[in-house]
Amino acid sequence: MAREIGTKCIHLEEELNHYGAISYPIYQTATFAHPGVGQSTGYDYSRVQNPTREQVEKVVASLENGVDALALSSGMAAITLMMELFAPGDHLIVDADLYGGSIRLFEQISRKNGIAFTSIDCCFEDIEGQIRENTKAVYIETPTNPMMHVTDIAKSADIAKRHGLLLIVDNTFLSPYFQNPLDLGADLVIHSGTKYLGGHNDALAGFLVTNREEISERLRFLYKTTGAVLSPFDSWLILRGIKTLGIRMERAQENAIAIAEWLKGQPGVTDVIYPGLEEHPGYGIMKRQARGFGAMLTFRVESKEFAMAILEKVKLIQYAESLGGVETLITYPTTQTHADVPKEVREKNGITESTLRMSVGIEDKKDLLAELAEVFNEIRRKD
Ligand SMILES: *Cc1c(COP(=O)(O)O)cnc(C)c1O
Repeated sequence: MAREIGTKCIHLEEELNHYGAISYPIYQTATFAHPGVGQSTGYDYSRVQNPTREQVEKVVASLENGVDALALSSGMAAITLMMELFAPGDHLIVDADLYGGSIRLFEQISRKNGIAFTSIDCCFEDIEGQIRENTKAVYIETPTNPMMHVTDIAKSADIAKRHGLLLIVDNTFLSPYFQNPLDLGADLVIHSGTKYLGGHNDALAGFLVTNREEISERLRFLYKTTGAVLSPFDSWLILRGIKTLGIRMERAQENAIAIAEWLKGQPGVTDVIYPGLEEHPGYGIMKRQARGFGAMLTFRVESKEFAMAILEKVKLIQYAESLGGVETLITYPTTQTHADVPKEVREKNGITESTLRMSVGIEDKKDLLAELAEVFNEIRRKD
């Protein structure tokens, strides 16, 4: 019987047999002895196979309904490996508003390796019109970082299928708890496991998940050859984090909705961009393709000074990059996550000097709202 996602975070279908250990053991070993010549326990060397890493891979594959998940040492290691699927001369259509590190990789590394990119707003520009003879894939995030653009995954998958392209979706922002792109026709899903999967801001990890055997086979070859694999201990941390993914996502979302609503009523706040608000242009698509809206929100205030003052004054809410952990973090995309994105591109994407991005955590929302109220009041008193 197919289990619900919240259960799948905690239990794999198969029975474990490590002396009945409830927490999966950490196989902190680089290599494995062979029982005899020409024999193997199934494990030879930890770059290729490691039981703890395999366990987290099985869990993530199960959460995304994939046939295989590969665990890497960071989200960027996963995206870098994904790029090895392509060869010089290939062309990719990529979303314009992406994680800054992905833009940096594509623009500064992949281009040098002979890959061409067209970047468009996949949520409202015509993907089909950009397809060339050498186009091999469409790469999207939805909702995007940090502007929360929502792209219709099934519609993009349909275009990709008709033209023989791969549809690759970075699903970090919603996590598999709220969205499963493979079920909607995507071929490959990416996660920065550093974020919601790990959930505690204590480990880096990345995942590539596919439901196509031939892609899995190719990626496994690239994986063992390039070697940016997830360590046994970090695999265990991510396994542990995933156990509470469900309740963390629900609670963080509840807090995010409360903060989004609160921000909307604040003088000095000019825009609140959260896909769970009915007025958000992607709200309808989100309702169709996801089970939730997540806990990432972006807002703009009336001036750069106002934005800076918020960053200076917050205490419980911490001024830090990254997202998806139990702690509420606020960041300034212009100089932090998107600093390496050229100014023109940043501005075209709407990342202004008064734009702030918040990753809402799972603290008691009363405290989060009280702190925001205090910070905003203090700033207004100074004016
Ligand atoms: C953080 C992030 C990445 C990169 O992951 P790392 O684990 O930091 O390497 C990729 N995509 C998105 C959407 C992210 O938020």
